[in-house]
Amino acid sequence: MTTATQHSQRLNFIDDMLQDLKDQHLYQELVTVSGEQGPEITVDGKECLNFSANNYLGLCNHPKLVEASVKATQQLGVGAGAVRTIIGTMEAHQSLEKTLAKFKECEATLVYQSGFTANAGAINSIMAKGDVIISDALNHASIIDAVRLNKADKRLYAHSDMAELESVLQEAQTHNRRLVVTDGVFSMDGDVAKLPEIVALCEKYDAICMVDDAHGSGVFGPNGEGTVAHFDLHGRVDIVVGTLSKALGGMGGYVASTQAMRDLMINKGRPMLFSTPHPPGVVAAAQAAVELLMADNSLVKQLWDNATYFKTEMNKLGYNIVSDSPILPVIVGESATAQTLSKRLFDEGVFARAIVFPTVAKDKARVRLMMSAAHTKAHMDKALAIFAKLGNELSLI
Ligand SMILES: *Cc1c(COP(=O)(O)O)cnc(C)c1O
Repeated sequence: MTTATQHSQRLNFIDDMLQDLKDQHLYQELVTVSGEQGPEITVDGKECLNFSANNYLGLCNHPKLVEASVKATQQLGVGAGAVRTIIGTMEAHQSLEKTLAKFKECEATLVYQSGFTANAGAINSIMAKGDVIISDALNHASIIDAVRLNKADKRLYAHSDMAELESVLQEAQTHNRRLVVTDGVFSMDGDVAKLPEIVALCEKYDAICMVDDAHGSGVFGPNGEGTVAHFDLHGRVDIVVGTLSKALGGMGGYVASTQAMRDLMINKGRPMLFSTPHPPGVVAAAQAAVELLMADNSLVKQLWDNATYFKTEMNKLGYNIVSDSPILPVIVGESATAQTLSKRLFDEGVFARAIVFPTVAKDKARVRLMMSAAHTKAHMDKALAIFAKLGNELSLI
């Protein structure tokens, strides 16, 4: 008899791999939240203010979403029973997709289990050998992985470098099809893609335009419709990916495009063909979140008010935050400094993750603050006082 704690020698190499990560200062450990997600959380037993969640609108525990989710679970159960193309498509899935299409002002949407799989499903349904995928160098890992799965040629352009995008597009004219894909909002700097220029280049060089608006959904546009609405580019971005897991507070991803694109993804999008969809409770929460946004933009407004207030006050203190969004990077330079700042913030009662190389450049280590509509003025003022104190202590301001 072997016990669960015994194993063969064959996995010993894993210890060496872990040690390598530790030697390179890339090793991460999980911190654990007890209780619910929100602006005040308990992390590893310590109460603190949360400045690291993507819970932009505070919807993770919104009573309307919770109620919708509980009701759907009680009425319909906890499982979808099969993949969507067999018998796993429930009325709740269809209804959410229709609502999302209205929200995004497009013909049709298809919901995936996550934003991560939505990128894989979309890109791999339409691109193939002989085509070329053109990607911003700072695009999200889920785009990178989706592109890796594909047999099309791949080209990168330097982050938001429109001259380079144009020259890549010129060289790509001999390919069968061209796809330009970009994040709508870049999550490390909080900057927004130059969508009007990207759209114009796609039109000029006959390329499909795809935007992954994970950090734009629920944040940009009058009611949180995303960066396409923000720039008034409806009908000119061919494929939009959104997530239900960030501002919308729950879980899931979707592709917003044409009815034909939806039909093709149902036939070719492997994460949907071969993996079970959300249970009714998850779908109902997302439906409630989208309905809430369409009816009332006060949370989106509150989010922006908070982001503007916090950024302005931080810059008055002497920090130099540059951002187009509620993602506020406090760039401090050295990795060690960012890690010390994050640790001292936690000591003082603010949870804000350090982000270091290789996620960002070696000399651009930072503590990244994610603002939320759920932060009160009292939360923000408390955090500002701590930033004032630590800024002096660590000679950052
Ligand atoms: C977070 C993120 C995703 C993944 O979304 P999930 O719903 O969490 O899987 C995809 N793309 C971008 C740009 C993201 O920031």
